[in-house]
Amino acid sequence: EGGIERHQYDVVVVGAGGAGLRAAIAAHEAGAETAIVCKSLLGKAHTVMAEGGIAAALGNRWPEDNWEVHFRDTMRGGKMLNNWRMAQLHAQEAPERVQELEDWGALFDRTEDGLISQRDFGGHRYARLAHVGDRTGLEMIRTLQQRAVQIGIDVFMECTVTELLKAPSAQGEDVVSGVFGYWRETGRFVTIEAPAVILATGGIGKSFKVTSNSWEYTGDGHALALRAGASLINMEFVQFHPTGMVWPPSVKGLLVTESVRGDGGVLRNSEGKRFMFDYIPDYFKAETADTEEEADRWYEDKKNNRRPPELLPRDEVARAINSEIKAGRGSPHGGIFLDIASRRDAEFIRKRLPSMYHQFKELADVDITAEPMEIGPTCHYVMGGIEVDPDTEVSSVTGLYAVGECSGGMHGSNRLGGNSLSDLLVFGRRAGEAAAAYASGLAERPAVSEEAVRAGEWSALAPFQVEGGDNPYTIQQELQQAMNDLVGIIRTASELKDALTRIEELKERAAGMGVEGHRQYNPGWHLALDLHNMLLVSEAIAKAALAREESRGGHTRDDFPTPSPEWGSKNLVVRLDDSGAGVDLVEQPLPEMPPELKKYFEES
Ligand code: FAD
Repeated sequence: EGGIERHQYDVVVVGAGGAGLRAAIAAHEAGAETAIVCKSLLGKAHTVMAEGGIAAALGNRWPEDNWEVHFRDTMRGGKMLNNWRMAQLHAQEAPERVQELEDWGALFDRTEDGLISQRDFGGHRYARLAHVGDRTGLEMIRTLQQRAVQIGIDVFMECTVTELLKAPSAQGEDVVSGVFGYWRETGRFVTIEAPAVILATGGIGKSFKVTSNSWEYTGDGHALALRAGASLINMEFVQFHPTGMVWPPSVKGLLVTESVRGDGGVLRNSEGKRFMFDYIPDYFKAETADTEEEADRWYEDKKNNRRPPELLPRDEVARAINSEIKAGRGSPHGGIFLDIASRRDAEFIRKRLPSMYHQFKELADVDITAEPMEIGPTCHYVMGGIEVDPDTEVSSVTGLYAVGECSGGMHGSNRLGGNSLSDLLVFGRRAGEAAAAYASGLAERPAVSEEAVRAGEWSALAPFQVEGGDNPYTIQQELQQAMNDLVGIIRTASELKDALTRIEELKERAAGMGVEGHRQYNPGWHLALDLHNMLLVSEAIAKAALAREESRGGHTRDDFPTPSPEWGSKNLVVRLDDSGAGVDLVEQPLPEMPPELKKYFEES
């Protein structure tokens, strides 16, 4: 077979979700020759599934809202572990990024005065999420994609990146030199040389059995970065969304948007009790209603009432649901009831939540305008990710940038709903600009060696060299079950240790796993390659979860049920270990917040 297909660009973006598209647009507009590579078809990235909206302090519904309030909500939602600088930039720049989407043709829902409408979500003090019904992600992707294609960015779709290439720079430093991957359809390899690579590969949800994430979220970017020498931060923090479908089994985990609660839906147990009032933590007491009357008045009058407890941050609500189910007060299929039918009229529900209406009607034969939904927690989002410089999104490896869900720091220990879509836009733009500037400033580019390409080829083909061996599907299933049962919403040291032992065993079996058939569209082979990433990232999550002996945000330890001030002052950073097959942990103090920002937290 002849040589491997080769291309050259200034900037390569891996991932075509909101983060990747926004980064590519910025890089292109800054003058860089830019390409996007994505595993699935353009338009199929996770971002398209986003329902509720984009958080930005536009102040359209509540003029009192501004970046300072958004910043404070974000930091408190993340229990103060967030990188303060990222949270600040995010809150400051999100409104401009939303406005810009509108300039590029996004059609948001409107207020009565014709402004971009904003809806309520957990942890946000004011109605803050710009939305398009419950299909906001679709509109965001449509807009960004149209622009990316229109301005002439090249797209390599259904193409999976399996290696980051590195080479010595002119100064002798080991820097990024491009990416190596394969076309999913033909199995043929491709090398893209570029001095700047932006990872925008999304999340890790497919390592858990019950998840709202689709097949693509195997932690590729996280693992690629680790192997290239970059570090991950906050990996113990995985967000379990309180409301996923629990029935029928085929759709278990599928997301039920938080907008249901934002628009008036409430949670009830099998006794019909609105139980969230029993689970208001001290930390949020001052701002949460303690009677149903006050909670219900809040939807109309936010100034004089406190928010309903159903809209506490996601970690609080998910834990409460978990406790009710454990206490035997769950619904027939092992969830809890989410009721909007008795609270809003059918027309309102169908207009505000059209996708939810159809999802339940078609998949579960439940009419949400007439009966309650059955829901339970589902693995949804990873707060942890590639550690980056807050202003430029560059990782510790020169030339390697990361944005969106695969990056870390911005959301601390827990992400507020709506803060991901805005994160993609704010940091996507920043990364694109920084990567373009870096590439254009280079006098000389790192060269991609033949050996590096051969090595990529060799490791991608390894599963074909094995006779017999384990089947990747079996290993994946066992990993998903272990992560769900042992590294899930409530954790203990003994279970986490057990998880690490199992991951170690699975890694050994994965090293000898074989695939049958040939390279043309071969899903077993694709999974075999993804599995190495899933295993490495799962190890990072379990190790960090075992080390953090406290409960905070998305990380709940049964054996350390409260937050500890000592752990509240540091992050855990993960790096590849010396063997290159596992990870090590380092504790790192939080960056010092400047006094002009500290003042927002002084009263609490
Ligand atoms: P993604 O959109 O996940 O895109 C990742 C891209 O990387 C894809 O194109 C994929 O093909 C590509 N890729 C991955 N690995 C490789 C590889 N090895 N080689 C090549 N390409 C690769 N957030 C909000 O703020 N508001 C919401 O209302 C909201 N609703 C949500 C609803 C659902 C059902 C889900 C699952 C999430 C929701 N979120 C929401 C979270 C938010 O949608 C995601 O965090 C966000 O879209 C992630 O965007 P991203 O650009 O980082 O990555």
